[in-house]
Amino acid sequence: MNDTCPTCRHYAALREQAKQAGDHSKATDYEVLRRRHPAHTVRIPRQPEGRIA
Ligand SMILES: [Zn+2]
Repeated sequence: MNDTCPTCRHYAALREQAKQAGDHSKATDYEVLRRRHPAHTVRIPRQPEGRIA
């Protein structure tokens, strides 16, 4: 997790909003954005590129 990253927290908040609004496709979009947030990809070892999807 990257709870200290404001952008990730922003995405996570948007994801929660979308989820609670019942918009699961948008929630997934925000989750993807959060996971792919480029500012600290090197600090997320469990995100091997091109493995998921
Ligand atoms: Zn981030």
